[in-house]
Amino acid sequence: MAAATWLHSSALSHTLRPFIRCTSALLCPSYQRHHLFPSTSPITFSSGDYKPPAPVVHARARRNLSSMVKEDEVASPADLHFEGQLKIVEYPDPILRAKNKRINIFDNSLKKLVDEMFDIMYRTDGIGLSAPQVGINVQLMVFNPVGERGEGEEMVLVNPRVSRFSRKLVPYNEGCLSFPGIYADVERPDSLKVDAQDISGARFTVNLSGLPARVFQHEYDHLQGILFFDRMSDEVLDSIREDLQAMEKRYEEKTGFPSPERIDARRRRKEAVGFGKS
Ligand SMILES: [Zn+2]
Repeated sequence: MAAATWLHSSALSHTLRPFIRCTSALLCPSYQRHHLFPSTSPITFSSGDYKPPAPVVHARARRNLSSMVKEDEVASPADLHFEGQLKIVEYPDPILRAKNKRINIFDNSLKKLVDEMFDIMYRTDGIGLSAPQVGINVQLMVFNPVGERGEGEEMVLVNPRVSRFSRKLVPYNEGCLSFPGIYADVERPDSLKVDAQDISGARFTVNLSGLPARVFQHEYDHLQGILFFDRMSDEVLDSIREDLQAMEKRYEEKTGFPSPERIDARRRRKEAVGFGKS
């Protein structure tokens, strides 16, 4: 996830500005410095199977966790292998929609991957990064909501699962390293409880709220093949539609292949079930 500041709100259309006013302390830069880490905030809702708020349209995002657990495949050493410097995979590369395998080998290859992910995250001014965003389709994320090496707390979550989440939804102006320069509002639960493994395979549970909860959920979505615009309302999506179309065009020019997905297909699907013009 890319660091979001109000400097980026200029990318939003004039008509949307009234909807993205500062509604929470999350949006204040000072909050990022002082209220970041695993919190003991009360969790107000619990669920055996985490079903996060459904993305607005994207069909694959509707899978629930229980079916995904049954389908989970385990990563082989080859799945974690990479050579040279990692690069950020950008939309609409199909790697971002591919299935991410569970990790059950906690060796030096994993440590090397985590080190490299933190490197590229800091270099690109990110505050969170998931493995599929660097072309490695495994259940791994790293984040540091401060976004500065040596400050804040670096978190590594392997095979994360959400066991509880709050009913309270909060908006936040999100960015994503796979969508450089694009920022828009996404609503997500304010707090949640997460079970995961650390870099050595030890299981742990953590309560997250505020910005760490936000970053976690953004990266957790990546591990399910869900992208941040899947969770935007049509109104918010319209503010970045042209930017997404430009990325699809660049992908086609760069690869020579048609874009594997098109943001316009989402609107056409809606119109197909509505009233057409005659
Ligand atoms: Zn992202």
